Order: sequence, then structure tokens, then C-alpha cells
Amino acid sequence: MGAGAGLVGRGAVSAAAGGRRSALITGITGQDGSYLAESLLADGWEVHGLVRQASVMARTRLDTLPALVEARQAGRLKLHYADLCDSSSLHALVRAIEPAELYHLAGQSHIKVSFELPEYTAETTGLGTLRLLEAVRQNAPATRFFLAATSEIFGEPAECPQTEATPLAPINPYAAAKVYALNLLRVYRRAYGLFACAGILFNHESARRGENYVTRKIARGAARISRGLQRELHLGTLSPRRDWSYAPDIVAGMRTILGAAEPSDYVLASGESHSVEEFCARAFSCVGLDFRDHVVLDPEYARPVDITETRGDAGKAARELGWRPKVRFEELVRLMVDAELAELDGPDGAPCPPRS
Ligand code: NAP
Repeated sequence: MGAGAGLVGRGAVSAAAGGRRSALITGITGQDGSYLAESLLADGWEVHGLVRQASVMARTRLDTLPALVEARQAGRLKLHYADLCDSSSLHALVRAIEPAELYHLAGQSHIKVSFELPEYTAETTGLGTLRLLEAVRQNAPATRFFLAATSEIFGEPAECPQTEATPLAPINPYAAAKVYALNLLRVYRRAYGLFACAGILFNHESARRGENYVTRKIARGAARISRGLQRELHLGTLSPRRDWSYAPDIVAGMRTILGAAEPSDYVLASGESHSVEEFCARAFSCVGLDFRDHVVLDPEYARPVDITETRGDAGKAARELGWRPKVRFEELVRLMVDAELAELDGPDGAPCPPRS
């Protein structure tokens, strides 16, 4: 991707990296972290990833994506144990690496789970950001800091489309924690002069999305049903409308934001909204099926409260940074369904039905 060319020479250069530009990513094992690591590595960065201790060592994306496997073997991608709940580990990591850029993507980011684990969500997503900002302020204040904020901070939005100026009114514990994180980031930018920026990210998806997120569930369900591996797909609701982008487009935006002349916050969004029902209709039509024959509404998957519609206005990012998403809704759904089919069918599998 092109963002890298403009990044040369900006910000602090890591002593630990021997003069090579180094970046630290929290949440490197997640969807966005994997795309971001690939993008930075492709542009010659040394990438450090924060990983946490777990009883199971499987890190599917890091262990299977060829560019990441190769970079780890070559020592250009290094993983470090730390945890957003452990200040000392964050300080030690930031002090040792002194990254030119730090992308803070980690946290408990599942909305329904945030109702079940509100305190843990606040600890990781909210206080974890404070701990990381303090680690940067005390140990590497020249580091450029990116926070992955979310359209969820607007709650049931006061206006449509939403911009950087739309009032913050979270309606779930995840969003409340992100509002806290965003407000702190702004405090640290103003009070300490940190180059700290937030991307107010609207939903973004890909074949690497976690399996318990609705878009991945739908793409996977459509593919499996088309291959006779399941009959029904259970969803909580079909009506919410969301602004969906392709994750690599959003990740490109993150890098562009840290490459700006001045630190600021930017909405990154497609500018279109589509309902969950439209996502289902499109996904099932990709495999020649009608979603109404297979989708079952199941209260088990419903959230206590939900936002009716999100739609972002990324005009500021377009005007000031030249950022625009490339992949639109129909192509995104097709990409996700095709990836599921490819996984089910294997390299010599049955041909996909014709595109609708
Ligand atoms: P994701 O796939 O859920 O990844 C979350 C990452 O956070 C994982 O790497 C996870 O590590 C890590 N993590 C969780 N708790 C941690 C802890 N206590 N210490 C260290 N690491 C921890 O999320 P994503 O979709 O890539 O999203 C990236 C960021 O963008 C998140 O902050 C999310 O809130 C935000 N965002 C995403 C969207 C979207 O549509 N994807 C929209 C708006 C905002 P493990 O692998 O160990 O669990």
C-alpha cells in the first residue's frame, strides 16, 4: 500500500531497531493487527507486537499468514508478552522499543460480551489505554500514538451521517470504555503535546474477522449451508443498519492518520449504511440461495440495547489526508463469502455458483 512511502523519516527512530523504523502494535493477533503488520512489513518497518499469555498458544492469523510467518523467522516481526492490565509490562516494552509509531488496537471489543464482562471491558479497553498513554508519556514521548476508537461512541446518533463533531453518547459498556479512552487521548495530546490521534472507525470486515461477529457468521453460514454442512443460521436481529468497510482500507487510513502533519482525530467510514438483512440477502445470493429459507431469529443472540443506524462522514479524512475506501459493500460481502467457500472447498474444490 502507498501510505508507507510518505512515512520515511517521520517521528522517532528506534534505537533498538538500529536505525530502522519500528512500530509497536497492540492487538496484533486481531483482524486489523494482522493487516497492519503486513502493511508495515511490506514498507520495510520493523514490527513489534504485544501478545498476552494464554493457555492455548494458537495465534491463527500470526501463525498462518505467509508474510507474517516469514517476517518472524527473519526477525523483522517480534512478539513480546505484555498485557493491557499490567502497567509494568507496558512501560518496559515501550522503553525497550521506543517505537516511531504505536498502534493501539487491543481491547475487549465485542459489544454483546461487554454486557457480560463490563468490568473487564473497562479494564482493558478503557484503563488499558490510560496505561499505554502513560507508558508513552514517560518513556517515549516522541512516539506517534494511534487509538482505534469506534462509531459506537455516538450511541443512537444525534445526527446522520456522523462526523468528528457528533456528540458522544455510548449505550453499551464497550462504547463507554472507548469514550473514556478517546477522552484521555485528547487530554494527553493537549496536556503533554503527544502526537496522539484517534481513528473513529466504523464497522470494517474481512475474511479475517472473528467468527463471533455477525458479518463473519453470515458469510460462513451462507457458505456452509450452500455446501450442505448446516441448515440454519441463527441471528439476533436483521434490522440494524451499519456502515461497513473493508478492513485493509481502514488499516490504510490508520497509517495515513499517523502520517499527517498535525495530530487529530478522523472518522474512517464508507459513507453508506446497509442493514443486517441486506448483508444476509447479498451473502446468500452469492451462493445462489434465498436467506429467508435459512435465517432464524434467535433471542439468544440479541443485545440488551442496540443502535438503529450508523453512517459515517469521512469527509475530513478525504479532504485533509486524501483517504478514501476502495472496496464497497457488494464486493466486501462477495470477498467474505468467497473466502469461506475457498476454505471449505480447498484448492481443488467445487466451483462457486455464478456471481449474481
Ligand atoms: P479483534 O479482532 O477483536 O482483536 C482484538 C485484539 O485485542 C486481539 O489481538 C486481542 O488479543 C487483543 N486483546 C484483548 N484483550 C487484551 C489484553 N488484555 N491485553 C492485550 N491484548 C488484548 O479486533 P479488530 O476487529 O482487529 O479491531 C481492532 C480495534 O479496532 C479494536 O480496538 C476495536 O475495538 C476497534 N474497532 C474495530 C471495529 C471493527 O469493525 N472491526 C470497528 C470499530 C473499532 P487475543 O488474540 O489475545 O485475544
